[in-house]
Amino acid sequence: MEQTLIIFKPSAIERALVGKVLSRFEQKGLTITGMKMMQLSEELLRQHYAHLVDRPFFPSVVASMTASPVIVMVLEGVDAINVVRSMTGVTNGRQAAPGTIRGDFAMSNQENIIHASSSAEDAATEIKRFFAPGEIFERTPALTRFINASSELSQP
Ligand code: ADP
Repeated sequence: MEQTLIIFKPSAIERALVGKVLSRFEQKGLTITGMKMMQLSEELLRQHYAHLVDRPFFPSVVASMTASPVIVMVLEGVDAINVVRSMTGVTNGRQAAPGTIRGDFAMSNQENIIHASSSAEDAATEIKRFFAPGEIFERTPALTRFINASSELSQP
């Protein structure tokens, strides 16, 4: 079963959209295995967005991501990384497809509601970056057999 990292950005926290967005993940059948509120630092963001540090808009991204505390979350499910990325939509909310989180809740390239890990490698690194091992819980929701076939659940 895959795990992926989500960050509810200040654009979700300050616009009070956490419940609406989180409901989508719960309704889809993803399992929350870790969740906490934290204040991000520029140092942590320089690691998390290392691929953007040299871009001219990086200081603006840091200001945006530190404007309020964020909520970080680990979601688990079969193919969770790709499922959550496709639910999230493309970076720019104005171009994201209707029905996606960014397509339905964002009008901006920067203020785009959530971060979601983009690959298995990134998910593993990001989960370690934001969570201590004891903060992630092993859970098997009672309805699991109505969310996936047993053949799907036995996939690595
Ligand atoms: P994604 O979040 O879709 O994986 P990136 O990793 O490319 O996208 O960018 C990380 C975050 O940096 C984006 O979600 C967005 O908040 C911000 N960002 C990316 N490109 C721009 C830009 N051109 N102008 C302002 N902010 C940007």
